[in-house]
Amino acid sequence: MSNFKILAVYAHPADSATEASGTLALHAERGDHVTSVVTTFGDRHHMQWLYDEMKKPESERDPDLPTMDIEVYRNFKKREAERIAEIIGVHELIFTGWTDHEVAFSWEKVEEITNIILRVKPDIVITHFPYRMSGGEDDHIVVGKIAMSAISRAGAKVPQFDGVEPYRGVKQVFFSFAGHEEVNSRNIFTNGVVCDVWIDTTSVIHKKVQAMDQLVSQGYQGTAARKIAEARDGRWGMIAGCAYAEPFARPTGITYDSLPMPERVLKERYIPNNLPNDALIASSVPSGTPLDAYRLRSQK
Ligand SMILES: [Zn+2]
Repeated sequence: MSNFKILAVYAHPADSATEASGTLALHAERGDHVTSVVTTFGDRHHMQWLYDEMKKPESERDPDLPTMDIEVYRNFKKREAERIAEIIGVHELIFTGWTDHEVAFSWEKVEEITNIILRVKPDIVITHFPYRMSGGEDDHIVVGKIAMSAISRAGAKVPQFDGVEPYRGVKQVFFSFAGHEEVNSRNIFTNGVVCDVWIDTTSVIHKKVQAMDQLVSQGYQGTAARKIAEARDGRWGMIAGCAYAEPFARPTGITYDSLPMPERVLKERYIPNNLPNDALIASSVPSGTPLDAYRLRSQK
């Protein structure tokens, strides 16, 4: 296999750690070029750090708290996304600065992502599953829709009208999951959204745990990150037949030249007890949270 250019498009900084980060870490390790787009600073989501600070006596609070405004807080969140990108091995991190909690579909936003696609020329796009089975919309779903529309728009550019060449090189889209859209199964006859691609993330689960350790603003560091990895990525792993996994769904069925028999399937050997046992390591990953992560303004 040759190397790929991968573009991930997310709603919030936290998504860049909690969704497909293990898979992206694997691809970065194999030499693929990873670009991550974080479209909002997530500045109105799960404000655990602020909540905890406000509970402290005034003398023990972060000294920068009295002068905090939305820009200062967005920077705090931006630093989290930057540290996550570094841990995962992301080559380029892009912020589009959309308003958190208010991401509505617009052709301006589609054009912004289209321009990124035209420049990055990704082979693979990873974005949020763009539907909500329970109805309603949220940032993730809308960002997924915007990314899908941007892929189509990139291919519809006409040099004579738009001054740019079209880009039609996105070969595959993978929708990532957060753990509440997909059904708890990989049996395709189960009702609901059954993910059709599972990536074994066991070898990089420490990176995913430490990526989540950066999300001090949301209180995801420490035991929370380890709980998420064991309970959710570990559950995905149990479904996928490994210690830890991430699920994806592709928007359309895939055509092969012949029946697909990947190496992993060919090499599968019978094990009476197929539990992951000593591959269960997420709970014991050492902390990846630097002291600076707890401070509203960087002390560096
Ligand atoms: Zn999110």
